[in-house]
Amino acid sequence: MQILERSAQTDPLTGLYNRKFLERYIDNVLYNAMRNVPCGIMMVDIDFFKLINDNYGHDIGDIAIKTIANTLIDVVDEKDKVIRFGGEEFIVVLIDCNEEQLNNTAEEIRIAFSQQKIQANSETFSKTVSIVTSLFPNKDKSFWKYVKQSDIALYKAKHSGRNRVVRYDDSLADDNGPKDH
Ligand code: GH3
Ligand code: MG
Ligand code: MG
Repeated sequence: MQILERSAQTDPLTGLYNRKFLERYIDNVLYNAMRNVPCGIMMVDIDFFKLINDNYGHDIGDIAIKTIANTLIDVVDEKDKVIRFGGEEFIVVLIDCNEEQLNNTAEEIRIAFSQQKIQANSETFSKTVSIVTSLFPNKDKSFWKYVKQSDIALYKAKHSGRNRVVRYDDSLADDNGPKDH
């Protein structure tokens, strides 16, 4: 049973936790941890990923996804959680973390990934990531509301140049959200 449970919550390509894990555990195990100690949350997304598939094919795209997965695992601590949230989008939960550690870890990930060489047939290339960071609990906001708003902040990070770490700020989400009249 435990093996089945674990495999249902694991992403086969990267071996990371998948979205199902996050959905299942955020409301109990992780959420409790997050209430007791400040936790950092990062949303990490590969820049111009689709171009890898278009230029080199889907298999090389898969290698790029494995490369960022390994970078995330290498940089964060064992106690932290790395989740493949979507195609080339990852959520990292840093358990017991302060503002400085959050920012340093995000920068470390950004730089480490940009230095990776990804092999494509006879050539190599490198890619970058954009990262949105936040400390949780954050103004009693629910985790899922945070995820939704981070997506908006990520969109803005992309449009302000990519390859950057953006600290989540309520104003980032608010000015793109529905307006009360
Ligand atoms: P941006 O810089 O704005 O993030 O653009 P992007 O190209 O990285 O992002 P976009 O969301 O347009 O493209 C993501 C693509 O990822 C679309 C989908 O075909 C591809 N994809 C999703 N899952 C996988 C996967 O498991 N393997 C591969 N090779 N591609 C995948
Ligand atoms: Mg992307
Ligand atoms: Mg994406």
